Amino acid sequence: MKVVDHIKNSDNTLFSLEIIPPKKGDSIKNLFDQIDPLMEFKPPFIDVTYHREEYVYKERENGLLEKRSIKKRPGTVGICAAIQNHYEIDAIPHIICGGFSKEETENALIDLNFLGIDNVLALRGDNIKSEPAFVPEPDGNAYASELVEQIASMNKGEYIDEELQNAIPTNFCIGVAGYPEKHFEAPNMNFDLKWLKKKVELGAEYIVTQMFFDNKAFFKFVEDCRKIGIDVPIIPGLKPVATKGHLTTLPKIFKIDLPDELEQEIGKCKDNAAVRELGIEWGIHQCRELIEAGIPVLHFYSMGKSDAIQRIAKEFF
Ligand code: FAD
Repeated sequence: MKVVDHIKNSDNTLFSLEIIPPKKGDSIKNLFDQIDPLMEFKPPFIDVTYHREEYVYKERENGLLEKRSIKKRPGTVGICAAIQNHYEIDAIPHIICGGFSKEETENALIDLNFLGIDNVLALRGDNIKSEPAFVPEPDGNAYASELVEQIASMNKGEYIDEELQNAIPTNFCIGVAGYPEKHFEAPNMNFDLKWLKKKVELGAEYIVTQMFFDNKAFFKFVEDCRKIGIDVPIIPGLKPVATKGHLTTLPKIFKIDLPDELEQEIGKCKDNAAVRELGIEWGIHQCRELIEAGIPVLHFYSMGKSDAIQRIAKEFF
C-alpha cells in the first residue's frame, strides 16, 4: 500500500523506521533481529537506505596502487523484498541519483515494480569521498527533482525509449527528503524550500525530514512549507542520541544542530549509558509534542540499534 494511503487510513500517529543494509558478508538475520523488537509497534512501512560504491586503493604485487570500487552495504532491493515477504509490510527502497544513469534507474524501478513495491524515496545522494562535491553520472539525474520527474513519467507509462509502445505505467508513491535546518548546500532556506516545492510539483506525494532535535525547527519548517503551498504530508525523522560522540558526529555527518540544552545535558553525563537514558527522555519529549501537533508518522532512524527506539515507542504505541 502507498504511504499516503497508510496515512489517510489511520486516525492516529503511525510508527515507522529506517534501516540500513548489513555490511557485505553479514547475515540478513542480524537485520531481522533489529527489526523484530520493533514489530510490536506495527510499522506499516520500513525504509531501506541505499549506499553508493566507495573507492579503495589496493597495492598490487608490482607496488602500484589499483583503484577499486566496492559496495560496503549492497542489497537494498533484496532486503526490501525480504522485508515484504517476512513481515508482510511495505518496504521502501531509497533510490539515489549518484552512480546511476537514467537507464539504470529505470531498470531498477522495473525490478521494484515487479517485486510489488509501491513506494520509493527519491534522493540525490551525497558525493563519494574521492569527490569534493556531488557529481552526477553524465547520463544520470543531477537532482532529486529530476529523479522524481523520471519516476512520475514511468507512472504515466513514459519510459526512456520513446518508441516503446503501450508500456505499462508503474504506480509508485514517491517520497522525498526535506531539511528543517536547511540542506547544507543551499544558500538559504527559501532557496531550499523552492526546490522542495518543485519536487512536490513534479510528483512527490510526501516528505520525510532529516533528523532534528529541536521541535521548533520542525514546526517552523512545516509552517514555511504550508505558506508556499507545499501541502503533502511531512513526516518527521527522529534519532535518539546515545553516545557522547554524537555531539560531534551527528552535526558533522548530517549537517544538523544539537540545541544548547541537549548539548549541555550530554556534557553533564558521566558515561554513554547516561547519554542513552538522556536520549530516550529527550526522544519521548520530542515525540509527545509532535503527536500533540498531529504529525502523521514518527519515523525513526534506527542505524542498527533498536533498544532506545523501543523504549521511546513503548510510551506511545
Ligand atoms: P536534492 O533535493 O536534489 O537537493 C540537493 C541540494 O540541491 C539542496 O541544497 C537543494 O536546495 C538544491 N537543489 C535541488 N534541486 C535543485 C536544482 N534543480 N537546481 C539547483 N539546486 C537544486 N543518502 C544516500 O546516499 N542514501 C540514502 O538512503 C539516503 N537516505 C536519506 C533519507 C532521508 C530522509 C534524508 C533526509 C536524506 C537521505 N540521504 C541519503 C542523504 C541525501 O542523499 C543527501 O542529503 C543529499 O545531499 C541531498 O539529497 P536530496 O534528495 O535532498 O537532494
